Amino acid sequence: MLPAAASHEDHASVMPDAPADHPAQRGETFDAAVIGAGVVGCAVARRLTLEGAKVVVIEKASDILDGASKGNSGILHTGFDAPPDSLEQRCIAAGYREYLEIRERLNLPLLACGALVLAWNEEEEARLPALMAQARANGVDDVAALSRAEILALEPNLSPRVRAGFRVPREYVIDPWSAPTAYLRQALENGAACRRGCEVLGGAFDGEAWDLETGGGPLRARAVVNCAGLYGDIVDRRLLGEASFTIRPRKGQFVVFDKAAASLAEAIILPVPTAKTKGVVICRTSFGNLLVGPTAEDQDSRDDASTDGATLKMLRDKGIEMLPALAGMPVTATYAGLRPASEDKDYQVKARAAQRYVTVGGIRSTGLSSALGLAREVHRLLVSFGDSYTPPQEAAWPRAGVLTDYAERAWARPDNGGIVCHCELVTRREIEAALDGPLAARSLAGLKRRTRATMGRCQGFYCLGALSQITEGCFEEPLAEDEGDAG
Ligand SMILES: Cc1cc2nc3c(=O)[nH]c(=O)nc-3n(C[C@H](O)[C@H](O)[C@H](O)COP(=O)(O)OP(=O)(O)OC[C@H]3O[C@@H](n4cnc5c(N)ncnc54)[C@H](O)[C@@H]3O)c2cc1C
Repeated sequence: MLPAAASHEDHASVMPDAPADHPAQRGETFDAAVIGAGVVGCAVARRLTLEGAKVVVIEKASDILDGASKGNSGILHTGFDAPPDSLEQRCIAAGYREYLEIRERLNLPLLACGALVLAWNEEEEARLPALMAQARANGVDDVAALSRAEILALEPNLSPRVRAGFRVPREYVIDPWSAPTAYLRQALENGAACRRGCEVLGGAFDGEAWDLETGGGPLRARAVVNCAGLYGDIVDRRLLGEASFTIRPRKGQFVVFDKAAASLAEAIILPVPTAKTKGVVICRTSFGNLLVGPTAEDQDSRDDASTDGATLKMLRDKGIEMLPALAGMPVTATYAGLRPASEDKDYQVKARAAQRYVTVGGIRSTGLSSALGLAREVHRLLVSFGDSYTPPQEAAWPRAGVLTDYAERAWARPDNGGIVCHCELVTRREIEAALDGPLAARSLAGLKRRTRATMGRCQGFYCLGALSQITEGCFEEPLAEDEGDAG
């Protein structure tokens, strides 16, 4: 039986009438409107801003990272198993490279743990040589075959049922939120604007620019970049009248084990991937837990990220089968994410020069790794429309707060204001910082994604009272009602 763990992925409510973050100046025309503040939209906004474009990011949810980007495995993929020379493979390679280049300047996390791709039966073992050849074709040429004995020497807690595998030394663990938040913050600090609670409802191109109709009022931009993730096809239909792909969300459920389990596996334990999915992974999280997941369940709903007991039990059993000592470990949380899968395996990136419009759709299961590469692709396409911008003389490089357990956290420093969330050691200063500035958290889910508050063993049981006081007046849906307001 699984302990009753709350999902740590609340859904921020959609508030189309929420006030704009930066009210539009009358008559203002942006160079580019980026629709959607998932990891892809945040990376695109950063790249275009650093190239000198005047950008507005338009997000329908009350806060950023509310779609596919809120619940992934947090792996920075090398792209070893991507279809060779596909757009996906090229964007993962470019995104991976840029992440490593910029991560110290932006203070982004990295757990350099490597991955082991493991075969558990004869059929999987037979596929290992072809997968290693594919990795090398994709430029991941440091993969190394491992015998059962070598695998067990590296990972002594694995079941001896493992047959063979190979090592991918440069697959790393990051987290879903630090990087995209930092990308968007960097865009904002260099002049971009962001409108949250602002759904794009329609629009028309007059030959020079788009007039967008949004829940927060009209916006004008010379180009549109559709990064709407799970709603990418719907946004294309609203603006272009047609879409060349259809999103069929693919749910992935996860079980997150307690931090005590993190010492059971050093590397990311990957299965032999299939055509449909990368399969169930065991890996440490950036936050010091150990997760098992995800599943790959096609569904019609674009926002139902619920979990179910039978699937979570299956995942837990599968984890124990591979890593028997997990049997004694409590579960801290469960969650699910939705992949924006389409009928095509490759990304759906389409440029329509005549309408100055780029769709960045179907970014299914590797978008966290490829986002910076996709952003460069979008810039290249806008330049092919004839756009040219002048990059800022000196760009600002804001540093992200440390969320990972594998680097020094704020609680260890003096003047942290005291610890508010004791499970995750989140300080008052971190919470105050997350409630401040142009990208201030707008909901409890947004606050979690910026600080980790409520994500630990008690899932908020102890800290929600303090949080409701500190956040008073900050959220449109307060954590606690005033007694005077009750009833
Ligand atoms: C279970 C799972 C595991 C994964 N594991 C990994 C991994 O380990 N590594 C990795 O690299 N990738 C991973 N991924 C993939 C990655 O999470 C996705 O590729 C990525 O999140 C897609 O981001 P996106 O920005 O395209 O879409 P989204 O995150 O969905 O962003 C789109 C945004 O557009 C907004 N929007 C929609 N319609 C409108 C509108 N009309 N107006 C305004 N805004 C709108 C939405 O609210 C949303 O915020 C995983 C995904 C899942 C689900």
